[in-house]
Amino acid sequence: MTNFTYSAAALDRLQNSDIDVFNALMNEEKRQSEGIELIPSENYCFPEVYALLGSVFNNKYSEGYPGRRYYGGQENTDTIETLARERAKAVFRAEHANVQCLSGCPMNEAVYFGLLQPGDTIMGMDLTHGGHLSHGAPVSNMSKIFKFVRYKTEIPSGLIDLDKVRTLAMEHKPKLIICGHSSYPREYDYAGFRKIADEAGALLMADISHLGGLVAGGALKNPLDFGYDVMTTTTHKSLRGPRGGMILCKKEFATPIDKSVFPGMQGGPHMHQVAAMATTMKLVQSDAYKAYARQVLVNAQAFAKELLAGGAHLVTGGTENHLLVINTATGFGITGNIAEKALDKVGITLNKNLIPDDPNPPMKPSGIRFGTPAATSRGMGEAEMKQLANIMLQVLRAPGDEALLTKLREETRTMCKRFPVPGINISDECGCGCGCGCGCS
Ligand SMILES: *Cc1c(COP(=O)(O)O)cnc(C)c1O
Repeated sequence: MTNFTYSAAALDRLQNSDIDVFNALMNEEKRQSEGIELIPSENYCFPEVYALLGSVFNNKYSEGYPGRRYYGGQENTDTIETLARERAKAVFRAEHANVQCLSGCPMNEAVYFGLLQPGDTIMGMDLTHGGHLSHGAPVSNMSKIFKFVRYKTEIPSGLIDLDKVRTLAMEHKPKLIICGHSSYPREYDYAGFRKIADEAGALLMADISHLGGLVAGGALKNPLDFGYDVMTTTTHKSLRGPRGGMILCKKEFATPIDKSVFPGMQGGPHMHQVAAMATTMKLVQSDAYKAYARQVLVNAQAFAKELLAGGAHLVTGGTENHLLVINTATGFGITGNIAEKALDKVGITLNKNLIPDDPNPPMKPSGIRFGTPAATSRGMGEAEMKQLANIMLQVLRAPGDEALLTKLREETRTMCKRFPVPGINISDECGCGCGCGCGCS
């Protein structure tokens, strides 16, 4: 048997050697079990991922790629990295995969440095309209090195107008166009962006970090089916894998991309993370995972329907993926930070979020953003989404009513007990239905 995995023996040892961190770990397990996680970028990883992240693969230096390493002793690391790459290629129908990126931002940076020269122009979605930090937000380091042009969504529809994207692309002639977001509740028109990139002579990349699992599970479109040059995805969001990033690309870009990751950006890859990616890429091919991916979308629809019926103002009027944005300022007369805090008190975790062209500042924005991947991983379905939407509506209408919040806190706690978190107290998944540590009362 292994020595130091996320096991009782290792935990015992931790408890003896560092009680402070041990206690924080126990409290975090409790927090994750007793609250409802609606942050759309978060999820509960597959339990197998914990075993690998806590494994001896953590100890190994594997600079280079399978078959071409700078250190000896690579028979097992070559096995896992080859499995991760081949499985990722199969899952995403890609010609090449790099599985060494430490997280999402370095993954995108590796693409920029691999395919472009400093000073080149990149076009991506504006952060304040749903784009990601790593797509050239002014505060990011990348904005000092590349020139970024930012497309926005339309007001009041909240949708991307492709004609405007095209005009911007023809005016600036970017070397790279990025499709991708961390807060856009609609499907991208991948074919439309492909046409624009062809016309502007740009390389085309999709960053599907939020959607990775939904694409892998066949519930959403795969940009690579539309002839995209590069696709990136984090592995810890809807994919339910370890924290990390993956670059998938056409064969012709394989060498510059691999060189950009190593030795361009990184030294030793995190092989415990690569091992967990390999297993994740196997697990997402199962029928159970495909059903999960579909259910994430069904649950988002159920959530949207109930909220709209209750008078909430949804940005874009609804959702086509796993996430929703509510304009709490117009719908309920409160800013997102007030909503976030009040919802926290009832055990619902989500984040305040800017809405397109938000008149309010980022720390007191006009909206909240949330989604269904984590709740769906717990086995929650449409009935629970409906119940959650109603709890949210009550909180948003009366965020200062402490008695109401206390009552609703009990309701979410009872709900959580029925849906144990995968991987926490894994032995509880005995089907007894109590959801506790299985001292079944
Ligand atoms: C989350 C995310 C990333 C960055 O991931 P980190 O692991 O937080 O660095 C990149 N792009 C998009 C679209 C994301 O949603």
